[in-house]
Amino acid sequence: MSSIPITSVVIGPEEEAAVLSVLRSGRLAQGPMVAELERSFAELCGVPHAVAVSNGTVALVAALEALGLQPGDEVITTPFSFAATLNAILESGATVRFADIRDDFTIDPASVQALINDRTKALLPVHLYGLPADMTALTEIADAAGLAIVEDAAQAHGARVGDRAVGSFGVGCFSMYATKNLQCGEGGLITTSDDAIADRLRLLRNQGMRVRYQYEAPGHNWRLTDLQAAIAVPQVGRLAETTARRAANAARLTAGLAGLPGLTTPSVPSGRSHVWHQYTVRIGADAPLSRDDLGKWLDERQIGYGLYYPRLMHHYDCYAGHPQIGTDETPRALRAATEALSLPVHQHLVDDDIDQVIEAVRGAFND
Ligand SMILES: *Cc1c(COP(=O)(O)O)cnc(C)c1O
Repeated sequence: MSSIPITSVVIGPEEEAAVLSVLRSGRLAQGPMVAELERSFAELCGVPHAVAVSNGTVALVAALEALGLQPGDEVITTPFSFAATLNAILESGATVRFADIRDDFTIDPASVQALINDRTKALLPVHLYGLPADMTALTEIADAAGLAIVEDAAQAHGARVGDRAVGSFGVGCFSMYATKNLQCGEGGLITTSDDAIADRLRLLRNQGMRVRYQYEAPGHNWRLTDLQAAIAVPQVGRLAETTARRAANAARLTAGLAGLPGLTTPSVPSGRSHVWHQYTVRIGADAPLSRDDLGKWLDERQIGYGLYYPRLMHHYDCYAGHPQIGTDETPRALRAATEALSLPVHQHLVDDDIDQVIEAVRGAFND
């Protein structure tokens, strides 16, 4: 048995050729390759604008700044995510309120509704593991209350709700970090249908300049380089194929892991498409072994796995008593953090790899 990693970065000949063309052009910073990435990614999401930035966290910070959030404004999000979601809201100066999640790990619209008050300005759902949040319900809630939507789509490139791609429901924030479904080492993309927001984002990205040395607003250097864009551009063209490979691996895992006591395989609510950034099972209290024991078992067999995320974002000491963090109770998110375990699903795995993962997990359950 060979080792099966949870993630694997493969750079192919198309990426190599594109990077080499940038190197030879002598134009390494933001230029035509970034423009091509923005054009192709906007098309993929069915929106008029994509704005490339230096990483996914910056995408979130930029989206919140472009919306003009002020200290005291409240943003409702999920506590079951990567710290970037929380850190971006804190950086914007706004206050974070936490809604609970559903069994599919995405934010629960009913719990969101219960937190809305006069200070609420935006909803920030996370399309966790590649599964879109319930954007139909969340859009209705946001429209009724006059709230902005910022989508943390860092893990969900190309995922859809009905006939609409994620990133088209509000300001969409994508990451191109090395382990994401679309990657260039470090990078981010922001999608929007709002011309004014897109314009503001481009201004903020480039030190508040449209024309050199004509500062129109205090800005930032949030630019992506053409070298990075060259790695991402060929992958945009292959994204449908990448996602189909991940989906086939997920389906094989779900069939192979059926019937194990206390193990819940991921479900996809109707009307939503999952892009399988992670394949995440739950190990419930009625399972014959603990999540930690399963992890040890997989370690011994060199099968990669991940605990995303072992604790709620704000339950680390460094956030204790933070004045911008609300004290909302989220029992279902708390339970998910103790039960979730992600298994290898990426596009470079073949059926035989997936079968080894299945065999190992079934073995752990003594099945
Ligand atoms: C990766 C990730 C981010 C941050 O993206 P970076 O490019 O690493 O800054 C934000 N939110 C979620 C849910 C992520 O998985």
